[in-house]
Amino acid sequence: MKVIRLKPGKERSLLRRHPWVFDGAIARGNADAGETVRVDSHDGQFLAWGACSPESRIRVRAWSFDQATRIDAGFFRATLQRSLALRDRLGIASNGVRLVHGESDGLPGLIVDRYGDTLVAQFTACGVERWKDVIADALIELTGCPRLYERSDTSSRELDGLQPATGWLRGDGPTAFELQEHGWRLGLDIAQGHKTGYYLDQRDSRGVFREHVQRLGCREVLNCFSYTGGFTVAALAGGAGQVMSIDSSGPALAQAAANVALNGFDAGRATFLDADVNASLRRFLDEGRRFDAIVLDPPKLAPTAAHAERAARAYKDLNRLGLKLLNPGGVLFTFSCSGGIGVELFHKIVASAGIDAGVDGAILQRLGGAPDHPMTLAFPEGEYLKGLVVMRQA
Ligand code: SAH
Repeated sequence: MKVIRLKPGKERSLLRRHPWVFDGAIARGNADAGETVRVDSHDGQFLAWGACSPESRIRVRAWSFDQATRIDAGFFRATLQRSLALRDRLGIASNGVRLVHGESDGLPGLIVDRYGDTLVAQFTACGVERWKDVIADALIELTGCPRLYERSDTSSRELDGLQPATGWLRGDGPTAFELQEHGWRLGLDIAQGHKTGYYLDQRDSRGVFREHVQRLGCREVLNCFSYTGGFTVAALAGGAGQVMSIDSSGPALAQAAANVALNGFDAGRATFLDADVNASLRRFLDEGRRFDAIVLDPPKLAPTAAHAERAARAYKDLNRLGLKLLNPGGVLFTFSCSGGIGVELFHKIVASAGIDAGVDGAILQRLGGAPDHPMTLAFPEGEYLKGLVVMRQA
């Protein structure tokens, strides 16, 4: 068993059960990609078992903080069983559920979503890559699903020195799927879509959006960064008169239009714009257009904490434009999925956007990821998705 010895004082985060060891914390020791290592403090005390990522700045991701744990097939089976049991207890009313959410479920680098009886997994770190077969077999056995599709084509995988990998890992079948949430039907494709096919983390916020559109009687709605139109369908279900969806992905917009039809809404109530959101918002402002409800759900603008400052300016600009485009009494649903932008910072960004826009607003509600995307106390980075519901003062 290879040992990685930390520098003095660098044991603190592992003692708090934070699962990452950065390269700068290591005094000596290395291992092969995905190999299990023992991490010791500078004076030789056991801290954790973990997987080595020789090419990543996150050099070790911890599997366990208990010296008695053996990292073997039984460990993965038991850990997966625990995540599945949590989802069972949550009783999520949808056929699309996140079963494994990486570090928050004790399996750094592993994402597993379930769409009906099809599993879709992302292996984004060397540790889970090395145990891929064991994990795949355990998932099939424990869920009873006959098929598992791999979508290991995320940029974070590159940081671990891994090549993209996609395709059926176990079984096979169609990649098109019809998701149901809040009583809506949403088509997606697990092979072609973003991430594993859909943004399951925004499920609850889409439900909240429908409620607000309905309660406030919003007529004109603007869904920015719409992807396949989840918030668009929510707005139509809430009785919106006219919903415009903007995204820079043509295939996503085509799926959004199909989803509007699938739910039986009149095509005349929805328009789709294949364009850059920022440029579109500026144009609407010039044209004097206004909306009763606006969604701003941009992609991750700050991939790491190091990008936070530049990303903060981008978020502020988007929110300033969004607030200016609201009718008095209208609502903005604004989100950030950047782990590097904390809840407090996001609040500050939106507040200063309001000041720049000359708009007074009331925060009606704070939003976060759906509960099948849990956050743990030990891993604050898990709280990546945050949102605010802001009403423009009349
Ligand atoms: N709200 C969506 C998820 C949004 S993901 C949902 O509930 O499913 C972010 C989306 O932003 C992606 O679909 C991506 O294609 C789009 N996007 C990224 N940059 C963009 C830009 N500059 N202008 C318009 N769309 C953009």
